[in-house]
Amino acid sequence: MSTTVGFLGLGHMGGPMAANLVKAGYSVVGFDLAPAALEQAVKDGVTVADSAIDAVREAQVVITMLPSGKHVLGLYQEILPAAKPGTLFIDSSTIDVADARAAHDEAVKAGHRSVDAPVSGGVVGATAGTLAFMVGGAEDDFESARPLLEVMGKKVVHCGDPGNGQAAKICNNMILGVSMIAISEAFVLGEKLGLSNQALFDVASNASGQCWALTTNCPVPGPVPASPANRDYQPGFAAALMDKDLGLAANALQTNGVEAELGLRAAELYSRFHNSGHGGEDFSAIIRDIRERSTAQTDPTGGDQ
Ligand code: NAD
Repeated sequence: MSTTVGFLGLGHMGGPMAANLVKAGYSVVGFDLAPAALEQAVKDGVTVADSAIDAVREAQVVITMLPSGKHVLGLYQEILPAAKPGTLFIDSSTIDVADARAAHDEAVKAGHRSVDAPVSGGVVGATAGTLAFMVGGAEDDFESARPLLEVMGKKVVHCGDPGNGQAAKICNNMILGVSMIAISEAFVLGEKLGLSNQALFDVASNASGQCWALTTNCPVPGPVPASPANRDYQPGFAAALMDKDLGLAANALQTNGVEAELGLRAAELYSRFHNSGHGGEDFSAIIRDIRERSTAQTDPTGGDQ
């Protein structure tokens, strides 16, 4: 008998992830609040249920791909009592580490097993089945989840105890947010100093400034033809999602008393960028904000500094 998967949250990410499970032969019963997501799911071969509760009743595995921790914890209240004892819950949403640990505890209290398995790779990776999964949970639960995660992704890393998948995700994205700002500031400074973007790229990409934000997602057009800067900053990885992830990181920094001035500042800068109408742009578009603000400050009419 094939494994039945209950899939809740069939949006930009969950939709194609569920479709890949169907293609791999899993029987997927899905539910989403949005009618458009359900329509697409039917086309992808998902059996659509009338409610979240109906989607989990017969499942051996339940996957959630929801906007936030509040959604996950709220939905778990409904579905944990409805699932068969011993069901494996996999939450792939990006949520607060504390919420992930609370969700795990609730699942275990209700007689189930659970892992947190957030992803990186975006909609492109979800569609291609090439996501990276960062997993927190007991070894045997991780091993039970692994075959499904390997259908939806190409890299699956066990990060330790419950919540550690989320911990890895926000630590990685804090590195990414800070490094994108650093790379962008360096390009704008180079421009002010008369250095071409290509020259700075050629030096830094072969020197100690080398990093993913520079060599894969380069924030200026030209040096890396596939980077979003070459298509007017269409994402890619949207600034709104970077804002969300840095907000989760900032929360964890403060809760755990970590002195991380750059992580907190990066969260502020991406929050400002998102809230000034740029949430739909690739996160590398923050270079435009830095450039515009820099120009204003060096305006010769602007004062004697
Ligand atoms: P999305 O908004 O497209 O999808 C979320 C879906 O959940 C929506 O369709 C919504 O209707 C549904 N939903 C909300 N409450 C529900 C409920 N009670 N029952 C059933 N369905 C419900 O968001 P997304 O882009 O798919 O992202 C999902 C998660 O993945 C988020 O936590 C996000 O941070 C994370 N993530 C997204 C990306 C990306 O590139 N989009 C990348 C990595 C991680």
